[in-house]
Amino acid sequence: MALFVLLCLLGHVWNLQVSAAPVNNAFKHPQSAPKFWHISDLHLDPTYHITEDHTKVCFSSKGVPALDPGVFGDFLCDSPYQLILSAFSYMKQADLQPEFIIWTGDSPPHVPKEELSTDVVIDVIANMTHTIRQFFPQLPVYPALGNHDYWPQDQLPTSANAIYDAVAKLWSPWLNPEAVATLQKGGFYSLVIKPGLRLVSLNTNLYYSPNQVTVNMTDPAGQFQWLQETLELSRQKLEKVYVIAHVPIGYLPYAINTTAVRESYNERLVKIFRNYSDVVQGQFYGHTHRDSIMVLLDQQGKPVNSIFVTPAVTPIKSLLEPYSNNPGVRAYLYHPENYGLLDIWQFYLNLTEANLEQKSDWKLEYIMTEAFDIDDIQPHNLHELALRFEQPQSKDFDNVESISNAGFSSVHIFKNVILHYFYCNLFFIYLCFYLKFWKKILYIL
Ligand SMILES: [Zn+2]
Ligand SMILES: [Zn+2]
Repeated sequence: MALFVLLCLLGHVWNLQVSAAPVNNAFKHPQSAPKFWHISDLHLDPTYHITEDHTKVCFSSKGVPALDPGVFGDFLCDSPYQLILSAFSYMKQADLQPEFIIWTGDSPPHVPKEELSTDVVIDVIANMTHTIRQFFPQLPVYPALGNHDYWPQDQLPTSANAIYDAVAKLWSPWLNPEAVATLQKGGFYSLVIKPGLRLVSLNTNLYYSPNQVTVNMTDPAGQFQWLQETLELSRQKLEKVYVIAHVPIGYLPYAINTTAVRESYNERLVKIFRNYSDVVQGQFYGHTHRDSIMVLLDQQGKPVNSIFVTPAVTPIKSLLEPYSNNPGVRAYLYHPENYGLLDIWQFYLNLTEANLEQKSDWKLEYIMTEAFDIDDIQPHNLHELALRFEQPQSKDFDNVESISNAGFSSVHIFKNVILHYFYCNLFFIYLCFYLKFWKKILYIL
């Protein structure tokens, strides 16, 4: 604990070498299209330091020797501050002229409960908030709370508490008084961020399976009712809505038939998002740390919503997991008038290389429409892509493999198609830059 308190990292902005924005000649959408950044799962580990004894590199490895620790991190540790700075420096230098940033939670590290406290969790969130504001003083940032943004982790309550109170104050410069008030009470908020565009930040941690506080509650913190009323009002006002949250709806990428939130809550959310699919233009999540896409179908099997899970900034994995993600940040392109989503530009840092060269060289990983030859990332196009993946001899896997040979350091693809009884057809694409193998797994339940 002492280490966390001692390592006050505020105000340190190191000079990092970053490259300019990547250039690609084959854009399907004008590069001038409006954009926003999505960052998630920063998981700062303030204890990270290089030392001879690899069991002592970071508290987040929980005594397991770090694999290959370097200045930008290790695959068994959460993010050193320098990794987070390198991500923000790149975003700033890339100068995509973003309109805003969405930030889907989880600032504290994966460490045993005893290493943290309410005060330490608040300190870490405050540190990340100030760091982001230092890099992007003019840019609005819209955060969502993660399951680690509380102490003890996962147990986010349904009413006001010290942490909701603290984040309401910390994030108030980006929000309006009404949003600050609901954030302070229940950890969620909504506000109009562009003419005709509302952002809804949900506290899906209330529905997260390990949250003991909400067991047997039908509507924790009244969030379902609030969400329904908010979307209804948006429909009446002809607004479009972007939904952001930490724990995603749908199935976990690394488990069969297991939803991230409790099943009954998942069904309730699916029902609401189906009802308001004409209003909701996109859903953006974090938490799994894995680059995933889901398509929500309506009762007739028509694709009605695009759902995105962004990879994490932290590279951490557990010892038993065969692979992890390289640190990633992404930008979305959207239509300036109807706010329909056009494309994803995914960026990553090859951690092994960065450590070797002691220099962070963030790169473009892929442009979604280019990598998968689709027109945009609207639900019908993502659904068609999913159907293409279902073909036994799908060329798309060859395509992805050849892309990996052409420009990617190494690619691991995992596919999981689930046809659930409420016709929620989800597919997941993982693009991980850690292991040197390629495989395809298909589940149909
Ligand atoms: Zn996380
Ligand atoms: Zn999480």
